Amino acid sequence: MHDDITLTTGRATRVLTERIWPAVHGTSVPLEVEWHALPGEPIPPADGLALAMEPYEVGTPWGPAWGTTWFRLTGTVPPEWAGRTVEAVLDLGFDSSMPGFQAEALVYRPDGTTVKSINPRNQHVPVVDAAVGGERVELFLEAASNPVLLGHDMFRQTQEGDVRTSSRRPLYATRRLDLAVFEAEVHELALDVEVLLELQAELPAGPRRMRVLQALDDALDVLDLQRIGETAAAARAALADVLASPAEASAHQISAVGHAHIDSAWLWPVRETIRKVARTTSSMADLIDRTDDFVYGMSSAQQYAWVKEHRPEVWARVKEAVAKGRFLPLGGMWVESDTVMPSGEALVRQFSQGQRFFEREFGLRSHGVWLPDSFGYSPALPQLVRRAGFDWFFTQKISWNQVNVFPHHTFWWEGIDGSRVLTHFPPMDTYNSRLSGEELSKATRQFREARRATGSIAPVGYGDGGGGTTREMTGKAQRLADLEGSAKVRWEHPDAFFERARTELDAARHGDSAVWVGELYLELHRATLTSQHKTKQGNRRNEQLLVEAEAWAATASARTGADYPYEELDALWQQVLLMQFHDILPGTSVAWVHREAVERHAAVTAGAQDIIERSLRALVGEGDVALRANPAAFAQAGVPALGVGPAQGPTAAASTLTELDGGGYVLANDLVRITLDAAGHVTSAVDLATGRDAVAPGRDANVLQLHQDFPNKWDAWDVDRFYRNSVTDLREAEKVSAAVEGGVAVVRVHRVFSASSLDQVLTLAPGSRTLEVTMATDWHETEKFLKVAFPLDVRAEHVAAETQFGFHQRATHTNTSWEAAKFETSMHRWVLAQEPGFGVGLVNDSVYGYDVTREVSDDGVAPAPGAPDVTTTVRLSLLRAPRFPDPETDQGVQTHRYGLVVGVDTAAATEAGATFGARPRELRGGSAVEPLVAVAGGVTLSAVKLADDRSGDLVVRVYEALGRRASGTVTVAAPVAGARAVSLIEDDLADAVVPVTDGAVTVDLGPFEVRTLRFARA
Ligand SMILES: [Zn+2]
Repeated sequence: MHDDITLTTGRATRVLTERIWPAVHGTSVPLEVEWHALPGEPIPPADGLALAMEPYEVGTPWGPAWGTTWFRLTGTVPPEWAGRTVEAVLDLGFDSSMPGFQAEALVYRPDGTTVKSINPRNQHVPVVDAAVGGERVELFLEAASNPVLLGHDMFRQTQEGDVRTSSRRPLYATRRLDLAVFEAEVHELALDVEVLLELQAELPAGPRRMRVLQALDDALDVLDLQRIGETAAAARAALADVLASPAEASAHQISAVGHAHIDSAWLWPVRETIRKVARTTSSMADLIDRTDDFVYGMSSAQQYAWVKEHRPEVWARVKEAVAKGRFLPLGGMWVESDTVMPSGEALVRQFSQGQRFFEREFGLRSHGVWLPDSFGYSPALPQLVRRAGFDWFFTQKISWNQVNVFPHHTFWWEGIDGSRVLTHFPPMDTYNSRLSGEELSKATRQFREARRATGSIAPVGYGDGGGGTTREMTGKAQRLADLEGSAKVRWEHPDAFFERARTELDAARHGDSAVWVGELYLELHRATLTSQHKTKQGNRRNEQLLVEAEAWAATASARTGADYPYEELDALWQQVLLMQFHDILPGTSVAWVHREAVERHAAVTAGAQDIIERSLRALVGEGDVALRANPAAFAQAGVPALGVGPAQGPTAAASTLTELDGGGYVLANDLVRITLDAAGHVTSAVDLATGRDAVAPGRDANVLQLHQDFPNKWDAWDVDRFYRNSVTDLREAEKVSAAVEGGVAVVRVHRVFSASSLDQVLTLAPGSRTLEVTMATDWHETEKFLKVAFPLDVRAEHVAAETQFGFHQRATHTNTSWEAAKFETSMHRWVLAQEPGFGVGLVNDSVYGYDVTREVSDDGVAPAPGAPDVTTTVRLSLLRAPRFPDPETDQGVQTHRYGLVVGVDTAAATEAGATFGARPRELRGGSAVEPLVAVAGGVTLSAVKLADDRSGDLVVRVYEALGRRASGTVTVAAPVAGARAVSLIEDDLADAVVPVTDGAVTVDLGPFEVRTLRFARA
């Protein structure tokens, strides 16, 4: 037989695209249209419906960037459409080559109830299912003319990302605002043909593919292209047999869940996300009503809270669908946050605020953590996920790795403490599936655990303003439920998938291969540790201040009976948690978002400071005694952790400052001796106890280095490896001066470089091992990366970097492609390079990125008696200057504080990091305050607060910070009636009663274990 497969597929493709799909809405009449354009911010829907309207002609350009236009559409169903299904077809000027990221609208009835949204690939609005003819139609559109920022010109610099700089020209022109007959049978035919066309493209040569092709030819032979509506049923009959042929017994099982990844802010401000969520949820409630088995999953309590506050009518529909088990609250977090940079306490609050909201509003909890898109995952997460009461973890992002292909899709992920959580990555490598044949085939082909496990998850739908799942996707799922040659598709809750996966993998749990230990490092988007410095600085500052505010407020409540500010603290935490969203904290949003983030962080700081001041005032009482409050988890300046003591002068001798002949200075105290050259670089930093110099021989430290930094893609996100190939050391100093001020040795350096300048103040305080650097940079660079380098005389195979509730170790070499790919990595408050007996740490107040390299000189080795010189260079990442999506990223004055800590081990580095950003507060009052909670024996305090349930119970969270076992005590200096161990989100645990003796409990902790205790007040 002569055969030409391409002839059939070409024919079917053309007929489907040019004839069948366009015939779905066959007959149409134009609607009458009026409009009212709002230049400024959105208004409540009730006000929009009441606006005075002007006549509008289809095709008229509408919508400047970030504007809102209200349209009123009216018409009458023609009498000859009696018995037919009638829809409105509304094309606002969409570019359907992109599913989202452009104009969108929410459709209202005159009474203010919503129908659904319209989006580039979802342009229909149901009007009447069986018309009688003559019905009056009246619809309102709240249309948002959001600019396309990431379209066909990817990563091109643009001013459209902030309403303050965006253009005022209209961006869209409507194409079609019609009433039309919906031809259901044609729609079904289109889906039949599309599913079969996509299926055959993935099939090997063989009988199944041939029969599908023949069926397509047969169907097209009976389809009259001039009378598609009348002949669609006959064409479908020709396809019925191949569509009825069941899947193979071992076909891959797809667990589909409706999805719309809506970034809580990104290329649009938070206020637009509020509307994006309302639009998509309205459409999903409509689709749930029109289907039997479709389920839609949505994460982020914050997004639900927005719908509740801003669109109560949509909220009622969401609540109803949740109650029916069709709308699935996922993830249990406040937002889909970054997980690399937030502190341990902040991640705990993501879980507690999220789960409390779901519990309060829906009477349910999420069982898994849903983070498809965050940029890498901290190795502390498995423990936190498990201790917050979750059973599973979901992401997809690691498929974006530049170099290494991740070896698992369903696996046990083990964290720094040994906790394991069942984790899944969809092998179809997308969280915006449309259930295409290609995606299903890819899932089947790539699935790494196919020897044991039977299926994978597919999040199905268009995100970010695409409107979520479409009726075409649910129609395809129906056909793909049991189809020969395809993976099988069924809608189900991810919980059901994970339950099955757990059983299937269980045999492997302690045995073979499906385990990954340590961080899930994303080999991409490495610059998100540095971009938008002020957003990061605000995060670090407020995480500390809120923990401090809770501790002082809890102490004030216990000691003075002061009211604990539950509502204020919740509101402040929720702001910080929102700003940890995975495009805000990483610095990858438009200027508008970061401008607001800086403002929101400033407001949180003010709120937290207010709570702290009120609480401390209540605690110390009236008086004029000079006092010092210590907000850190470690004793400082003679004051115990979370206590208030008398302000004493320094107990150590003043630091000295010696000017060297020929330029340069020596700063010294009882512990260290630091030598600076005439330009302010650190040429040596000697630990007086050991005589060891931290700085590598012949090198200098605290050297600022400027790199060209123009990544191939994703400007704010990425730094590409080649950035290291060109570097300028900023060695020139315009001015250097030095003095001893109040016992502290101080050197000031002013540098001018490129288009920028900076001032550094280097200080060595009495009794301190830390050379502290306070830096203000007037930054006016383009596509540059600023680092500060510390070449250390330390032979270290690994460096340790703080993460949540502990640290992890990363290799300093690049033996494998996995290590080579980690050329820019994350830290919290400290990073440490050490040999047994001598270590050097770097601490910081707002830095998250660093890199480490090693150099070896073995010239002095055999036959000479010397040892090789091994230099470990640690560099902190300070500033970048990408131009997309915010063209002004980080321009202007930026401040940093960091310190070189000489002669420390892990414990001392942990303490130095914790105290560096939590310095004592000076105040005046009546008397000192004994800490409410004290710990001993290798236990570190993390939080002291009152319980979220407002019972007045005291909650204390502690952890083991050093990766060893600890046996210690937690003592409450207030009457307590008993103690219990609780989960991270303060749920009771089984057998959790902890014996209390004189207010003290004993805690035995494993390496990096986090323990939460709840004390009932007596
Ligand atoms: Zn995202």
